[in-house]
Amino acid sequence: MRLSFYGGAGKVTGSNFLIESVPEGSLRGGKILVDCGIEQGVDVSAADMYGPFPYDAKTINALVVTHAHLDHVGRIPKLVKDGFRGKIYMTSPTRDLAELILRDSVDILGQDAARRGIPPLYESQDVDMAFSLVETLDYHTEKEVAPGMSVYLRDTGHILGSASVRIRDEAGVAVAVSGDIGNSPSPLLPDWEPIPDADALVMESVYGDRQHPPKATRDSVLKETLQFAIRRNGTILIPAFSLERTQLMLYELSNFFAAGDLPRIPVFLDSPLAIQVTAVYEKWGLTYFKPETEDEMKREGSIFSFPFLKQTLSHEESRAIEKTLNPKIIIAGAGMSHGGRITLWEARYLPDPSTTLLIVGYQAPGSPGRRMKEGTPSVHLGGHKVSVRAKVESLEGWSAHADRDGLLKFAEAALAGKRTKAIFTAIGEPAAERFLAQRIHDYLGARAIVPDQGQTWEITKDSVKKI
Ligand SMILES: [Zn+2]
Repeated sequence: MRLSFYGGAGKVTGSNFLIESVPEGSLRGGKILVDCGIEQGVDVSAADMYGPFPYDAKTINALVVTHAHLDHVGRIPKLVKDGFRGKIYMTSPTRDLAELILRDSVDILGQDAARRGIPPLYESQDVDMAFSLVETLDYHTEKEVAPGMSVYLRDTGHILGSASVRIRDEAGVAVAVSGDIGNSPSPLLPDWEPIPDADALVMESVYGDRQHPPKATRDSVLKETLQFAIRRNGTILIPAFSLERTQLMLYELSNFFAAGDLPRIPVFLDSPLAIQVTAVYEKWGLTYFKPETEDEMKREGSIFSFPFLKQTLSHEESRAIEKTLNPKIIIAGAGMSHGGRITLWEARYLPDPSTTLLIVGYQAPGSPGRRMKEGTPSVHLGGHKVSVRAKVESLEGWSAHADRDGLLKFAEAALAGKRTKAIFTAIGEPAAERFLAQRIHDYLGARAIVPDQGQTWEITKDSVKKI
């Protein structure tokens, strides 16, 4: 089999891998793509984002999607626009989430293209066409999706519906791609499952060189920070990523309120996308969460809502939040304060010293969120200069990605199958990929490779070598 790195090598975003089985004798051959993501960041070039794929989309038999984050699904409508007509495989929750995420991205990408003076990456009809090709596939069900090539999904505990992909050809050679690996144990999701049966494994490395604080510390720091902020009698702003982080925050808040750890103050979920995503979590939670959380859902109904939580879908409802007296909590997107309703609330409340801005996620260099985290006295939001007199609190450990030691455990669990000849460290900054590869080599005595963008490797039952 051949494995090519067309995205996500030396980069956190833009996941895109091509796995080909070359026909030989009576064996058949096919081409499967794993993920088709977009590159994200403040300085992504037009060529990286809008340029042609390095393969002919029409010749690909199938696309398998690991999970619904935009850096794994964001270029699927472009693939379809460029002629791909195979089936697209993903779990049922991923289908629902990816559709929300992609439809939400149409306007944002349209604005980006207009700024650059070029046609949009894709439009609504391309998203429609993409979803007409989707076929859902559950975990632990082997299915032939290309001539002589089968796919098998396992849970990775990263976000709802996230999966690793193992692809096997007729000769029995297997290549696996981990997708993003969860920060297990999660309060909601099952732990990641090991992949012991691949000849070569591509694994993510986002936190390859960093460690998260312990979970117990993470929860108590959140609780104490909220208690302190509420005592200051101000507005608490939480810029949140719509997918997984928002649901995790709602779940934690609901537990704090139920335990009497926080006074009952109004909480607003002010993001149409996050509201819709939460509904998908409610829909699939009973079958895709970890067993104890599924039991909790059966007992309590919703685990994300509480009596004084208000979901503000319309602009009118959103605007009315201002009339509610402090203290109150507003959760809104975008997660890095680079757009969305949070910027309106930041413009309104950041000049007020009683406000607390609670940052709970990764902030890309150059984003307004990053500048506020670093203590800037003023920030540009939607073209206006806003002075930051609010207290800015940054909480660590809320990532949905495994940390340095979690990733090493994932590699160790794969190697326990005594079959994997090489592990490729991808989907990370170059330093993180190199650090993880070094540790896999030093601690586990295994071959670890940091692949380059555009490289193709040949994998057989006996060897892994660069072509
Ligand atoms: Zn992800």
